[in-house]
Amino acid sequence: MNGISRSAIYDLQNEILYTIPNELFLLISRKYFRLQSNTISTKYVNLFKNLIHNDIFIISESKGYFKQFQDLDLVWDSPAIFTNCVISHSNAIDYKILNNELESVGCKDIQIQFDQLIHFTELETVLSKFERSSIKNIELIFSRKFYSLNYLHRLTKTFPRVQHIIMYNSKTNEYRKIRNGDVLITSLKTDIDYGLSKSKLSPNLFVLNLKLYLETLYWNNYYNKKLFINANGHIIRTIGDRKIFGKIGETNLIKLSKSRAYTKFWKIKKSNILECRNCEFRFACVDDRLPLKKKQVWTFSKACNYSPKSIEWKKQN
Ligand code: SF4
Repeated sequence: MNGISRSAIYDLQNEILYTIPNELFLLISRKYFRLQSNTISTKYVNLFKNLIHNDIFIISESKGYFKQFQDLDLVWDSPAIFTNCVISHSNAIDYKILNNELESVGCKDIQIQFDQLIHFTELETVLSKFERSSIKNIELIFSRKFYSLNYLHRLTKTFPRVQHIIMYNSKTNEYRKIRNGDVLITSLKTDIDYGLSKSKLSPNLFVLNLKLYLETLYWNNYYNKKLFINANGHIIRTIGDRKIFGKIGETNLIKLSKSRAYTKFWKIKKSNILECRNCEFRFACVDDRLPLKKKQVWTFSKACNYSPKSIEWKKQN
């Protein structure tokens, strides 16, 4: 993916992102090229060798060899009316009703955000509402201080739908897989704002997979087909959005998915947004800021932590 000051190669299979100079991008954006002694500038030879070593480039003397590699079908679609639901936990939410509603629209992935410590039994009662559900993946977000790692191990054994736990306020940024690699525990040094109201993008939060890449080609990867439920059970467009679009259990979700106001941001792709369209990370970046239209151009009121022009990240905790 080309950016204003450098480019990036997305290895979607191995979930690795390589940054490369734009000069090299121009050459390698061709599907095939003849490698001669002067094809790669000497200053990039080591980088190029590393990319060959990691199977990003394949060298063959026979052109026919490449016939076995099919072009990817760059289509994204989902039968679900809403693919994901993000919930700000509170006692006001009736999880049984929520589960029924989510099943009716084909939602398979949910994220539950906890901004306060809740007792083990309450957490387990919440999770038990999804035990026989068609919801496949549950992601939990809470402060590192709330629960011990031992408890989280036990929790994921009891509730196998919990496949990702994000703990903010951690001492280090760390990723560990448990339960034979089925569950990811992400520790982030970032503070309580992360994922609860404000965008705090960092390279640690990039997502590299084919599904997201394809969705980002056509849609806003944060808003498209997503449902957000605030602590009062109200439906909103993103956590922190003040506009309310109804209440879970009372609002017809199929009608909501056709509402122009609710789906306003679904089609605002990264390539439509002024700051992002020249960023090499735009296909791995999931950004929760609400886009704003200024003089016919989509932009944001709050700057991103990354500058594609200077290729620098603002210092974070
Ligand atoms: S400029 Fe910031 S928000 Fe936009 S794609 Fe790049 S990293 Fe993401």
